[in-house]
Amino acid sequence: MKVLVLNSGSSSIKYQLFRVQDWQALASGLVARIGEPEGEVKLNWLDSDEVSHSSQESLPISSHEQGIDYIIRALRDSGVLVEVGELAAIGHRVVHGGVRFKQPARIDDSVIEAIREVVPLAPLHNPGHLAGIEAACSHFPGVPSVAVFDTAFHQTMPPAAYRYAIPEALYTEHRIRRYGFHGTSHHYVAKRAAELLGKPLDQCNLISLHLGNGASATAIRAGQCVDTSMGLTPLEGLVMGTRSGDIDPAVVIYLCKHLGLDADGLDRLLNRQSGLLGLCGVNDMREIDQLAAAGDERAELAIAITTHRLKKYIGAYYAELGRVDALVFTGGIGENAAEIRRRACEGLERLGIRLDTELNASRAQRGERCISLPESEVRVLVVPTNEELEIAQQALRTVADIDR
Ligand code: AMP
Repeated sequence: MKVLVLNSGSSSIKYQLFRVQDWQALASGLVARIGEPEGEVKLNWLDSDEVSHSSQESLPISSHEQGIDYIIRALRDSGVLVEVGELAAIGHRVVHGGVRFKQPARIDDSVIEAIREVVPLAPLHNPGHLAGIEAACSHFPGVPSVAVFDTAFHQTMPPAAYRYAIPEALYTEHRIRRYGFHGTSHHYVAKRAAELLGKPLDQCNLISLHLGNGASATAIRAGQCVDTSMGLTPLEGLVMGTRSGDIDPAVVIYLCKHLGLDADGLDRLLNRQSGLLGLCGVNDMREIDQLAAAGDERAELAIAITTHRLKKYIGAYYAELGRVDALVFTGGIGENAAEIRRRACEGLERLGIRLDTELNASRAQRGERCISLPESEVRVLVVPTNEELEIAQQALRTVADIDR
């Protein structure tokens, strides 16, 4: 049996097909620029001898429905999915599940309605997910579909962590609270970290750091999230590629009053023009690393602000947890940027965090690994994230639990 994972955006659908038996990814790809005159479709797949192939085409894709149709045809033509009946489940990534979804949910009309209800909280993401879900459900009425929410893992946060200190009615009437994102990734790396530590997850206290173009930190006590750095939206918290992360809310008031910015202007400024890009004109950490090494002061400052903020969150979550088994780095930057990891851990020896600087910097090391010294009380781990695999496994488990 196989599981298909779909991540539908407003004009694109990313997909991955897994073989359940060994969770091998048999195919992955992308349908992009849906609704534009020239769409783009990509497919990578493994043939029966496990040799990889890829194909790419440009053709108009008018709707999500047509996109799904294309995906199924491409999977069939490449031989990785002979018939739709081989699909045990379809797992859909959904960014926002509001407060209702603490677990993945088998998709039915009420789940679709609940995803629609929180569109105001995730206007950039949930409408695209809905288009993908509806297209897939009408295409494969017989295949169970499951929504896996980025917010679900964070639903165990206590009110002390998720409420903002603003008038209560904004919470009760408008659902303004902290939700947190990247939950599927934090959950996946937490489970892998528990394996690497050789302990059950429900005995592990962890600080997981998902550092990619979007970035978030999560405090995990006994395997459950107790705090996370993203809030009502993915704008709060760490410095990101183009997002500011934490700022004094009075900056927003100032920008409205003195620079005449409206809601759209603020959204653009804080979500798309800030973060690393705003600080040094570049949002790719590889390039920033090179610029800083060549003496570029703005790039150096961007790294300093990023790692200063990271360290603040590590310290805060350490204080919340009291005891930490491991720091877990993941995401494009967390997995690859040794200098960011070094500077985030620098000076934390008194907290029991002792990085092995050679292991940390070694380019020979790839994949899951421990990069702390043997005497480090807190282990420092690098765990490549795999959100698609986590979605596939959660989708199958959800279907199996319901059918049991
Ligand atoms: P993600 O959103 O998880 O794909 O991560 C994207 C970020 O990871 C970008 O800022 C990339 O520059 C960064 N990244 C990827 N590979 C490296 C690397 N080898 N060194 C530094 N940063 C990297």
